[in-house]
Amino acid sequence: MVYTGVLTKMQTEFLEPIQYYLVFENDFIHVNQLLNKPVKMKLIGHQCLSCGLDRPIYRQGFCKTCFFDKPIAGDWIMRPELSTAHLGKEDRDLEYEKKVQLQPHIVYLANSSNVKVGVTRKSQVPTRWIDQGAHEAIEIVEVPNRYLAGVTEVALKDHVADKTNWRKMLKNDIEDVNLLEWRNNLKAHIPNEVKDYFIESNSETHLKFPVEQYPEKPNSLNIKKQMEYSGKLVGIKGQYLIFEDNTVFNIRANEGLVVELNV
Ligand SMILES: [Zn+2]
Repeated sequence: MVYTGVLTKMQTEFLEPIQYYLVFENDFIHVNQLLNKPVKMKLIGHQCLSCGLDRPIYRQGFCKTCFFDKPIAGDWIMRPELSTAHLGKEDRDLEYEKKVQLQPHIVYLANSSNVKVGVTRKSQVPTRWIDQGAHEAIEIVEVPNRYLAGVTEVALKDHVADKTNWRKMLKNDIEDVNLLEWRNNLKAHIPNEVKDYFIESNSETHLKFPVEQYPEKPNSLNIKKQMEYSGKLVGIKGQYLIFEDNTVFNIRANEGLVVELNV
């Protein structure tokens, strides 16, 4: 079968193991069913996720113009502490920013290669953890807007990492830790304005990814350079496809590319 479409982050279902879907305009591909099968991928173009034009993708699936203009790519997306909708202050489009920022957010601990702190909209739990390839995670606080989540993350970053080591995550070079204990140790560093939002009773969420064989030395595929690739799919973790020859492909980092998949 040949499928053609623009890459966007895989949709997921929180089952054991996690189920992954590639959603193209005319096809819905259940990626778990491609495990142990040869897959051929060819780059055939670009399609900005905002304007839809065939322009080079700059960041996050957007062309350069959209990345710098559209409300969907404001700085507060990557840096939640810059959110200002709770003050009625516009960044690029106040209506859009109110809709996204003024809703329940979670600050969490996730362990993908090491314990890290992160922020997500409540509606994105556990999707966000799946996308990061975390094998365990726990919520710390639930706050009513993105700003409060952002300032909490900034305060906690002094005491816990905020980045994942993707190679370690893919190699499954991981250990189980007691996130409840981590959470309790961090409690003292939550900013005063957020202390009341601490979630008192909580337990770890465990995630199991569909991986048959972990790569020993993950080698990231640059499809823009290589233009095409063929390999046997042996796993899916985070937003990465893992192939038998140690090649890994980060779907999320390649959003906006139009590909032809031959499976
Ligand atoms: Zn665009």
